[in-house]
Amino acid sequence: MTMNQTAIYLDNNATTRVAPEVLDAMLPFFKDQFYNPSSTYPEASNARDAIEKARESVARLVGAGARSEILFTSGATEGNNAALWGALRANPERRHVITTTVEHPAVLEVARDLQRHGYRVTFLPVDRAGRLNAADLLKAISPDTAIVSIMHGNNETGVMFAVGELARLVKRVDPKIVVHTDATQTVGKIPLSLSRDLASVDILTMSGHKLHAAKGVGAMFVRRGARWRPFLIGGHQERGRRAGTENVAGIVGMGRACELALDSFHEKDRLRSLQSRLEKSVKASIPNVYVNGEGAERLPNTSNFAFEYVEGEGILMALVDSGVLASSGSACTSGSLDPSHVLKAMDVPFTAAHGSLRISTSRYTSDAEIDRLIEILPVVIESLRRISPYWDTTTNAPRQGVDVFIQEKYR
Ligand code: PMP
Repeated sequence: MTMNQTAIYLDNNATTRVAPEVLDAMLPFFKDQFYNPSSTYPEASNARDAIEKARESVARLVGAGARSEILFTSGATEGNNAALWGALRANPERRHVITTTVEHPAVLEVARDLQRHGYRVTFLPVDRAGRLNAADLLKAISPDTAIVSIMHGNNETGVMFAVGELARLVKRVDPKIVVHTDATQTVGKIPLSLSRDLASVDILTMSGHKLHAAKGVGAMFVRRGARWRPFLIGGHQERGRRAGTENVAGIVGMGRACELALDSFHEKDRLRSLQSRLEKSVKASIPNVYVNGEGAERLPNTSNFAFEYVEGEGILMALVDSGVLASSGSACTSGSLDPSHVLKAMDVPFTAAHGSLRISTSRYTSDAEIDRLIEILPVVIESLRRISPYWDTTTNAPRQGVDVFIQEKYR
């Protein structure tokens, strides 16, 4: 494929294209509406008003009770850092954190850092389908627990946690525990409401660039009265709860993206049927393949395949040659041979975790693009297996004894 051909973009959990309407909404704030929203002359009031309008749009998308419960951030990494550190600073007498083994590094690494700062952290395990067990969560709660942080939808597998129900259970045991959910992969993809299904959640974090807004802007919901203290300090912006001159254009774009998402929820049914068609035909046309997270409730836009006895990076490279951009679940690109922490936590066998492929769609993905993927994937996997030392091309099955060999080698 040459650079000027349009690629088939199936990596929307990594980032999404900026919607044209979002760009149009942002542009004036790079041009004549460049003012600092904190300035007192009348020219700046438009920027201030635009931020409040965007706040209203975010609040509406997530079903917040009040616009004032929404703060703008630089994205979900900041939001997650702020959620965890802010809850701990507001509850200094409590030193225990509960989270899961499959969180995004923006929670997981913060949790590990908290351990280095002397906090106790419980990482809840998941089962083979990536599901949490509510009993494990309840067992982990102690009088010392300050915060429970459980993601809403997993970025790698699309597996969703019943955060609303889990939050209710936590609050029933101890209403003082702060419940946070990283909803970066669910906001805008599925309807959710902080006044209904997520009514027991105190803090929700999200990011603009996963829902067709720009990179470098995000939002967090902090419920009125939540036990939380600001994380970024040093300015009066966002009513003293998030210091720093506002990313006005980014925020305005985020508001517009939320309005568009609210009008596009019908798309989730089309994406759900594309997901099901893709998964059915991959399983029918390719031997030794699993869908990671199958059986669990999943996002409608994400399919994570494990092709046994091939390398994820090889799959990606072959797909790029055919004009398809996707993502692999292994961390080989970062110089490590370890498969992803999510697949490891799900106990996906070594030979499969290494051959994982994440396909993530958006409302801009066409049916024809998925048809094209369905056509080329069997060819790609077959050609990679032809050069795999673990695969026997004459029987079209793994070589005898290969699993024992691999288990011993990588034990
Ligand atoms: N949490 C999840 C679940 C994510 O998928 C991502 C982005 N990959 C982040 C947090 C980090 O978001 P951001 O890029 O806005 O910092």
